Amino acid sequence: MASFFENCNPCRSTALEQLALITPKLGRRYANERNFDRGAGHHEGVTMLSPWIRHRLLLEEELASAALRAHSFQDAEKFIQEIFWRTYWKGWLELHPKVWADYKVTRDHDLYTWEKDEGLRRALAGVTGIKCFDHWLMELRQTHYLHNHARMWFASIWVFTLGLPWTIGADLFMQLLLDGDPASNTLSWRWVSGLQTQGKTYLARADNIEKYTEGRFKPDNQLALEAKPLEEIGLPNLKTLEIPMLPEGGKPSILLLHDDDLSPESAPLPHQDIVGIALMNGSERRSPSGVARNVYEFVEAGLEDAVQRLGNRCVLPSCKAEVKSVLQLAHQTGARRIISIHAPVGPVRDAIDDFVIQLGMTENSNGLVVEIGIRDWDAFCWPYAKKGFFNFRKNIPVLLSNLVVL
Ligand SMILES: Cc1cc2nc3c(=O)[nH]c(=O)nc-3n(C[C@H](O)[C@H](O)[C@H](O)COP(=O)(O)OP(=O)(O)OC[C@H]3O[C@@H](n4cnc5c(N)ncnc54)[C@H](O)[C@@H]3O)c2cc1C
Repeated sequence: MASFFENCNPCRSTALEQLALITPKLGRRYANERNFDRGAGHHEGVTMLSPWIRHRLLLEEELASAALRAHSFQDAEKFIQEIFWRTYWKGWLELHPKVWADYKVTRDHDLYTWEKDEGLRRALAGVTGIKCFDHWLMELRQTHYLHNHARMWFASIWVFTLGLPWTIGADLFMQLLLDGDPASNTLSWRWVSGLQTQGKTYLARADNIEKYTEGRFKPDNQLALEAKPLEEIGLPNLKTLEIPMLPEGGKPSILLLHDDDLSPESAPLPHQDIVGIALMNGSERRSPSGVARNVYEFVEAGLEDAVQRLGNRCVLPSCKAEVKSVLQLAHQTGARRIISIHAPVGPVRDAIDDFVIQLGMTENSNGLVVEIGIRDWDAFCWPYAKKGFFNFRKNIPVLLSNLVVL
C-alpha cells in the first residue's frame, strides 16, 4: 500500500508546492470527483492537504485565494465550502466547549467498560469479515489518512452495524490520522451517530459503497439496514465567544509554539519581541493512548520547520513548553511574558490551560503571564457557527470578501 506519510513532508514549503500543483483541479473537477474513493495511492479526486491544513502549515485564506484565482466562484464553490466546513466545526466547538469535555469523560468511561469486548477486539484487529471495513482500518493504520467518504462509511458501520461506542471509534481516528482534529473528528462522529444534527444519522449503504469505490467493495447483506440515532441529554448552552485582545508590542517575549498553528510568522503577534521559543507537541494529548509514532513525528518536524522559518535571521533559543524550562529560558533571555497563537478547544488548549495553572502556582514565576493573539479568520468566522452549517454557509460570500485577498 502506497505510504501517504512518506510523501507528506511536514514543512510549509512542501505544503505550498503541493497547493500550487493541485490548484488547477480545485474547480469543477473537484466537485465532480471528490466523492470517489479509489483507494490508497489513487486519491486524485481530493487534495490530501488535510495534514498541512490541520496544523496550519497552510492557511484557510491561502486555500480560498488559490482556488479563486484559478477558478470562478461557481466552479470553486464546492472546494471552498469544504474549507469552511473545517472553520464551521472549529467555531461550533469553540462555542460549545462542554461537548469536548463530555466527549473525553464518555470516551474514557467507554474505553474502560469495553476493554474486554470481543467485537471491539475484532474491529480493532481488522478481522470483522466486512471486507471494506477491514481494508479501511488497514489503510488508516498504514497511511494515516482516509478519504472523507471512507471515514463516513467506516464510522457508520462502526456504530450501526458493529454496535460499538462512537467515542472509541473517534479516539481510534485521533490516534492514527495525521489530520486528527478535535473539532472535525469529534463532531463528524457525532453527526454520523445522530447526536450532532439531532435525529439525523448517516447510514452506510452497500450500493453507495459499490458506486463510489468503483466496484472495489460490495458489502451486500453485511450492513445494518437502519440507523437509529444515539441519544444524549440535549446540547449544552451556547458559550459567548471571547476574542482576546492582541498582545501589544514592547516586551521581550517567549513564543509558546504549538501544533494547532505552525505558521507563527503570519500570526498577529509582536514578532520583534520574540527572544525565545517554547515548543509544545500537543499530539500526545489527542488520545489517552497517545498517537501513532508517525503522527507524533509529523508534529515534531512541523515544529522544527516553524522554528527555522522564525529564526531566519538569528537562531532563537528554545525549550520544551514545561513550566520549569520556560522559567529558565525567561531568566536566560530576559523575557517578561509568554505569547501564543490562540488554540481552539481541544488537546492543545487543554495543555495550555494546564500550563497556565502550573505557572500561576509556581513561586518565582516573576509575574510571567501568557498573552494570546487570535487570527482574523477565526475571530471573524466563528461567531457565525452558532447553528447548523447550512445557516453558516449563507455567510461565505461576505466572509470571503473580508478575509481573502485576490
Ligand atoms: C468520521 C469523520 C472523521 C473526520 N475526522 C477528521 C479529522 O480528524 N480531521 C480533519 O481535518 N477532517 C476530518 N474529517 C473531515 C474530512 O473527512 C477530512 O477533512 C478530509 O477527508 C481530508 O482529506 P482531504 O484533505 O483530501 O480533503 P479534501 O476533500 O481535499 O478537502 C480539502 C480540505 O477541506 C477540509 N474538509 C473537507 N471536508 C471536510 C469535512 N467534512 N469536515 C471538515 N473539514 C473538511 C479539510 O481541511 C480538507 O483538507 C472527518 C470526517 C468524518 C466523516
